[in-house]
Amino acid sequence: MKVAFVSSELEPFAKVGGLADVARGLTLALSKIGVEVKIFVPRYSTIDPWRDELHYCFDINEIKLQISDKEFSVHTYKKEIDIDEKTHIIVYFVDSPFHFLRNSIYTNDSDEGERFLLFSKAVIEICQRLNWAPDVFHINDWPTGLLPVILLQHYNWDLLFKNSKFLFTIHNIEYQGNFSPEIIFNNYLDGKYFYPGGPLEFHGKVSFLKAGILFSDIITTVSENYAREILTPEFGGGMELILKTRKDSVFGILNGVDYSEWNPKTDKYIPFRYSEKSLHRKTKNKIELLKYFRLPEDKQIPLIGIVSRLVSQKGFDLFINGINELIQLNCRFVVLGSGEKKYEDFFRSLSYSFPEKFGVRISFDNHLAHLIEAGADMFLMPSKYEPCGLNQIYSLKYGTVPIVRKTGGLADTVKDWDFYKNLGQESGNGFVFEEYSSRAMIDAIRRAIDKFSDKKIWKQIQLNGMKENFSWDISAKKYFDLYKILSHKQH
Ligand code: ADP
Repeated sequence: MKVAFVSSELEPFAKVGGLADVARGLTLALSKIGVEVKIFVPRYSTIDPWRDELHYCFDINEIKLQISDKEFSVHTYKKEIDIDEKTHIIVYFVDSPFHFLRNSIYTNDSDEGERFLLFSKAVIEICQRLNWAPDVFHINDWPTGLLPVILLQHYNWDLLFKNSKFLFTIHNIEYQGNFSPEIIFNNYLDGKYFYPGGPLEFHGKVSFLKAGILFSDIITTVSENYAREILTPEFGGGMELILKTRKDSVFGILNGVDYSEWNPKTDKYIPFRYSEKSLHRKTKNKIELLKYFRLPEDKQIPLIGIVSRLVSQKGFDLFINGINELIQLNCRFVVLGSGEKKYEDFFRSLSYSFPEKFGVRISFDNHLAHLIEAGADMFLMPSKYEPCGLNQIYSLKYGTVPIVRKTGGLADTVKDWDFYKNLGQESGNGFVFEEYSSRAMIDAIRRAIDKFSDKKIWKQIQLNGMKENFSWDISAKKYFDLYKILSHKQH
C-alpha cells in the first residue's frame, strides 16, 4: 500500500497546531504496519536545509510551475526519518521561496490560495518524476483540498495515477480556504465546476475545503463525535448540507498521540521523569514550573495549566466573562499560548494584575508545553468546539487531570469523575461540563479543586487517566482499513 501523505504542517519542522502532530504520529504508525508512506510538506522559513540536514533531490531537479500566469521554479529537498533499522519514511519538502519563505505558515496575503495550489501541483509533479503511483493521496485540511481537482483537470492524461484514490481528513471545518474565483480562471482550472451551488463554489468564493469534500473518495475527521457534529448547523461551518450529500463516506477516527514524544516516563524535556508508580516525582516538576513562572512555590494549591492557540474556538471568552469568580478560586493558573491579540492582552494583563495567581507566557514553546503537562495538577480546555484536541490526551498520560467541555474529541476522551462515581464506578478520568457558560466551567473547576484536597480520590482519577491508551497504533489500523477499501474501489 503506497500513501502520499500531503500536509501543510509536520512536527518538528512546521507546526501551528494538532495537524503537525497528526502528520508525524500517524505516518510513523502507518509505516510500522507496512504502509509505504511518503510525506509532502512545503519548505517554510522555519526549515533550514543545512541545519535540518535535508538533501537536495537531484533526481527530481527543477520543476517549472505556472501559477496565475507567472512561472515559478520549484525545487525539492528530502529527509529520511528512521523508524527502525528496516523502516523509514521519506519527507519531501517543496521549495518555492517566493511562496513559503514568509513570516508564518498561514498568511493573510492575497496569494494565500495560490501558495497551496502551487504546493498541490508540485506534489503531483514530484510523484511523476519519482515514477511513484500512490494508491491513496491522503490529503489534509483546506490547503490540500484542491489537489484532486488539479489531478483530474491537469494530469488526468497520466496513467501513473489511474488507480490513485483520495482520502481527505478534516482537522477543523472552520478553516475553509475560501478565495476569490479568479484563482480558478487564472490557473486554467475548468470553470464548469464553478457556478452558484456548484462543487467549487461557496458563497461566491472558491472553497478549497468544499473541493476536498466533494472530489475525494472518502472523508474522515478526527473524532467520532466531531464526525457527527459537523453534519449539524451548529458545528458544520456552513458545510453541513454539502457533507450530508457524502454522509456515507464520512468517517470519524480519533487522533492518536505519539507516546514516544508525550510520555512522562521518557519525556526528554522535563526535569523529573515519572510513572504511575512514582507519581510523587510529578510534584518536583510542579515546583520547577512554579519557579519558571515566579509563582509562590506552594505544593498544596492546585495548579491549572493551559496550552493553546488563543482563538475564540478554544473558549477563552468563558474565562474573560468569569474572571471575577475565577480570581477568587483557591488555585493558580499557568498559561502558554499565542493567537488573537484580544486574548493575548487579556492573559498578559492578568499576570500583571495578579502575579501570585497567574503565570503567563505569550509564545509558542514546545519545551514549556511539556513542562506544563508534567507540572500542572489540572489542565483546562473549555473549547466552544474541538475536533479532537490533543492536549487533554497528553494530560491524561501525565496524570494532569483534564477539565473540559463536552464537545468533539474532548467528549470522546474525557469521562466525568462525578458522573461515574454516581453510578458507583470509578472510571472517570477528568471533569466535564456541558453548557457553554462561565458558570458551568467554574462549577467544573470547583469540583476538581474540591477533589484535589482528597489525596486518595485524586490519585485514583490520575491513575484512571494514565492507564488510558490513545496510541496511534489503534487509529492507524483504522486508516489502513479505509485505504484498503479505497484501493479495491473501481474508478
Ligand atoms: P489545535 O490543532 O486546534 O491547535 P490540538 O489540541 O489538536 O489543537 O493541538 C494543539 C497542539 O499544538 C498540541 O500539541 C499543543 O501542545 C500545541 N500547542 C498549541 N499552542 C502551543 C504553544 N503556544 N506552545 C507550544 N505548543 C503549543
